[in-house]
Amino acid sequence: MTETATPFNKPLPVLDGLAKEFYDWCKQHELRFQRCTDCGAWRHVPREMCAECGSWNWEWAKASGRGTVFTWTVVARALHPAFQSDTPYAPVVVEMDEGVRLLASVVDCPPDQLRIGMPVEVIFDAVTPEVTLPKFRRARG
Ligand SMILES: [Zn+2]
Repeated sequence: MTETATPFNKPLPVLDGLAKEFYDWCKQHELRFQRCTDCGAWRHVPREMCAECGSWNWEWAKASGRGTVFTWTVVARALHPAFQSDTPYAPVVVEMDEGVRLLASVVDCPPDQLRIGMPVEVIFDAVTPEVTLPKFRRARG
């Protein structure tokens, strides 16, 4: 065996219900959010009813994959042992061009270089055979 990759040891999302549908799209390298088919409002995290108009009708609509850094925090002391070697790291809230916000990481940007409003674009990280996480990198072009 020449396999050198270490197994992914961080907590993973629970794949059931609407969350499973969201991550199944990520596995196909498509970032999709729910969009109300009555009023057009985008929403995330996944839920059954539109908070804008009360409709139960929605679709998984393909997002642009582009957004900006809305805010972040720097974790200096990990609260879970699996993140200890990553410190310091920055969980980042990205505001997508569609208006929804997503908690993720910006993989190519150290915490001290993050800026509010910084353009970012989605990438997909297949951390296990079952789970692909959406992450972000600085926007290019
Ligand atoms: Zn609606």
